[in-house]
Amino acid sequence: MELLKKTAVEQRKALLNKEVSALELVEETFKQIENLDDKIGAYNSLTKEYAIETAKKVDEKIAKNEELPLMAGIPLALKDNMNMTDSKTTASSKILENFVSPFDATVTKKLKENLVPIVGKANLDEFAMGSSNENSAFKIVRNPHNLNKVPGGSSGGSAASVAAYEATVSLGSDTGGSIRLPASFCGINGFKPTYGRVSRYGLIAFASSLDQIGPFGRCVEDIADLYMAIAGHDEKDSTSLNLEVEDVRKTLKDDIKGLKIGVIKELMAEGVSDDVRKSAENSIETYKKLGAQIKEVSLPLLKYSIGIYYIVATAEASSNLARFDGVKYGYRTKDAQNLLEMYTKTRAEGFGDEVKRRIMLGTYALSSGYYDAYYKKAQQLRRLVKNDFDNVFKDVDVLISPTCPTTAFDIGSRNEDPLAMYLTDIATISANLIGAPALSTPCGFDSEKMPVGLQIIGKNLDEATILRAAYNLEQALK
Ligand code: GLN
Repeated sequence: MELLKKTAVEQRKALLNKEVSALELVEETFKQIENLDDKIGAYNSLTKEYAIETAKKVDEKIAKNEELPLMAGIPLALKDNMNMTDSKTTASSKILENFVSPFDATVTKKLKENLVPIVGKANLDEFAMGSSNENSAFKIVRNPHNLNKVPGGSSGGSAASVAAYEATVSLGSDTGGSIRLPASFCGINGFKPTYGRVSRYGLIAFASSLDQIGPFGRCVEDIADLYMAIAGHDEKDSTSLNLEVEDVRKTLKDDIKGLKIGVIKELMAEGVSDDVRKSAENSIETYKKLGAQIKEVSLPLLKYSIGIYYIVATAEASSNLARFDGVKYGYRTKDAQNLLEMYTKTRAEGFGDEVKRRIMLGTYALSSGYYDAYYKKAQQLRRLVKNDFDNVFKDVDVLISPTCPTTAFDIGSRNEDPLAMYLTDIATISANLIGAPALSTPCGFDSEKMPVGLQIIGKNLDEATILRAAYNLEQALK
């Protein structure tokens, strides 16, 4: 168990010092999964054969004293909306229950090239739609800190696997907060890079202009390393940025004296629980002691971000999910009399309630009579939100806020009210609307010992500064 509790950086050291073999590390991880995952529900499936084969390759390299690629030998959980040829890719939907991808997502390919033993496919909210991981078609995920609480969503399986030592690191996807929120609820680090930094090729699309893949890890250095392993231009993704990726590891441990940090006023106001506010305030004090300059800033349009998001995201989802029609992928209804019935029954039986709700909302927002009133307005407002952020970023280097106004809530407690569930993402969604990099890092616990996360948002392309800011906080709070 001591071995599994180590960070990826420490595990890599242990591998290089031959204190442990990659095969042992992977086998220990599978033991932990076998012992615990019945309770947690973090995995939809395991990729044992691939993981063991990869670990053996790593051990051979170590034996020959060959250079080890980044993250080689480190057990990783892959969110089950990223294609991987050696397994099913289900997006936690009945409609893809038996789907096996004929190709690897670009991130999967990069992990394979780096000899990362992917141990399994992590559970999620169906098609990444949700904030609590209660929308999986197969099973819910439970929070490892308290099994009666949600782990956050939609990358709940990716976060819980790392928090429960069923993987050392993992990948998630973030459309409106799906990496940062579960990281916050599960007490680990989660990072959404700038839109376009990491290829979306082979990621099952939810809302293409918002989706971004990113890493989870127990420490900031782990997420910096994993980010470097997956970032970069990819000609297979037309929105991938054709820019060199700055090596964030070079400045990670530099100090933050003089760093200008803006505290988002609207996200420290009413609605934030006392415990969350206390932890955030403690982080602010810590930053002051580290020599940062703290300034309160206001983002008046932030209150519209959820409204904008649920038009834009559902519109894009309604289009992206049109491809699941019983012809090309996955599930097909058993008893259709004609083609139209085959389409409608397949979709009615294959999609869960939340996914249907989103498709209906999005189809409505895009319909000819309402397009101007909803979709176009939302896109115009999205631009104004970006202007708001651009203005604020003239004076500060990074922005901070609680990742979520509350800590993890009880399973079932927000299911009856979709709006209450949507409001969970008030702090995270705007970073997706504007494409900015943002992360969540642990900053304390509430009175029930549930973790609190601090969000750090950076300027577009400035991953290095937020990671450095997070690293400094992590070291100071140790
Ligand atoms: N909770 C948000 C939603 O339900 C965000 C999901 C995500 O980031 N994938 O859409």
